[in-house]
Amino acid sequence: MKKTPFWWEEAEPQHGERTLDRDSCNALIVGAGYTGLSAAITLAESGVTDVFVVEAQRIGEGASSRNGGQIGNAPKFDLEYAARKFGMKRAHEIMDDYSQAMPFMLERALTLTDPFDLNICGTVTGAHTRADLKKLTSIRETLPEHERPSFELLPEQEVRRVLKTSIYRGALVKHDQGSIHPAKYVRALANRARALGVRIFTGFRFLGSEAAGTGHRATLRDVDSGGTFSLRADKILLAVNGYAGPELPWLRKRTIPVQSYMIATEPRPFDEMEELIPGNRVAGDTKRILYYFRRSPDGTRMLFGGRARFRTSTEEQSARGLRRFMEHTFPSLKGVKITHSWFGNVCFAYDFVSHVGRLDDGVYYSSCCNGNGISMATYLGHRTAEMMLGVPGHDRGVVNTHFPRLYFYDGHPWFLPMVGTWYRFLDRSARWTD
Ligand SMILES: Cc1cc2nc3c(=O)[nH]c(=O)nc-3n(C[C@H](O)[C@H](O)[C@H](O)COP(=O)(O)OP(=O)(O)OC[C@H]3O[C@@H](n4cnc5c(N)ncnc54)[C@H](O)[C@@H]3O)c2cc1C
Repeated sequence: MKKTPFWWEEAEPQHGERTLDRDSCNALIVGAGYTGLSAAITLAESGVTDVFVVEAQRIGEGASSRNGGQIGNAPKFDLEYAARKFGMKRAHEIMDDYSQAMPFMLERALTLTDPFDLNICGTVTGAHTRADLKKLTSIRETLPEHERPSFELLPEQEVRRVLKTSIYRGALVKHDQGSIHPAKYVRALANRARALGVRIFTGFRFLGSEAAGTGHRATLRDVDSGGTFSLRADKILLAVNGYAGPELPWLRKRTIPVQSYMIATEPRPFDEMEELIPGNRVAGDTKRILYYFRRSPDGTRMLFGGRARFRTSTEEQSARGLRRFMEHTFPSLKGVKITHSWFGNVCFAYDFVSHVGRLDDGVYYSSCCNGNGISMATYLGHRTAEMMLGVPGHDRGVVNTHFPRLYFYDGHPWFLPMVGTWYRFLDRSARWTD
């Protein structure tokens, strides 16, 4: 079993430039995932020259080349919750940001020349309980009339039309959502950024910055040689999501990095897999500790994700747990070989909302995709770039909302095992009382 993402078989992350030959740039972006690269594209498309991206690992080696490749844009809260926190006007704008994310990503996709297996195959959300099915029903009912036809509700006896499993009480199928190959997508964004003149430096860790005239002086460390470099930048954006290290204490105190795990099975006959998930749709469910799963783009493998344990786990431990969940969902996969097991960090905010803003020292940030970030990160990168450019009307929705912090928390989520145990109990008891 390989301990690297299945996606890397076809699109392993690559290094960018390894020599920093300049001591100044106009915009410095920290993090070469979807957020950072999308921000770089918007800046460069708007005519900003000398846009530099620095990445501590290889291009896209954070969550952006490791995820499930399911695209949709469901916030983890509703309008009422957002209104309580931010007032009704902001709440509407925030919901609008979430609904803009996927159309924006599809629009950006048209400008990419590299293929990334985009497939509007539909997504399925399995209802864990009857109460969850009611919630899915009300989600559909609150949609504007013209959006409803692309959301189909299935009662329990019809779930098998879309998933050959008996574990769900019903399902919501969103026909206008789908899947991508995540590692090919981040590579395509990087190549588009480079075509626009953006320079991507990898193997450099951003250590911090201080004000210098009208801009900033950043310190970078070469992760191989340990040498440090100073780089002047007019503007800096932190696009590190679930990978904020101790050098970024302000973000660390406000973000909860959560490891999410995935496995891939050996290839199986196409027809057998087509029977399990017809039409190569992608799926998740309504549990607090959800399962998410799909077939590989060629339709022959099962890729299954979730949280097998809440303590740090090895790839072997998480593969054992995920195999159990997968066999529970699809008993016919009992005993199939697992060929890949891997994990990556997703990033949560305490209020489950994405946040874009500017620190007191003028450095910008875009953070917290709350586990659902392919389209949202692409969109947030763009929105942050608009803020950096001072585009009129940028101060709306998720931009400049209060980003809460938890006191006595420094970025090490010591409470996750307890929260995980509690959530798992709630998931189980919801089914007992269903
Ligand atoms: C296993 C898994 C499954 C997922 N499944 C889905 C899914 O199906 N659908 C979906 O929509 N979302 C999914 N997600 C979430 C999605 O992958 C993320 O929301 C998205 O990739 C975030 O992109 P990003 O650019 O903000 O962050 P990342 O891609 O994580 O990039 C941040 C980068 O910043 C770099 N960095 C951090 N600190 C520094 C520093 N000091 N100096 C230099 N570089 C630094 C890191 O090395 C990292 O590469 C999943 C995530 C995981 C891990």
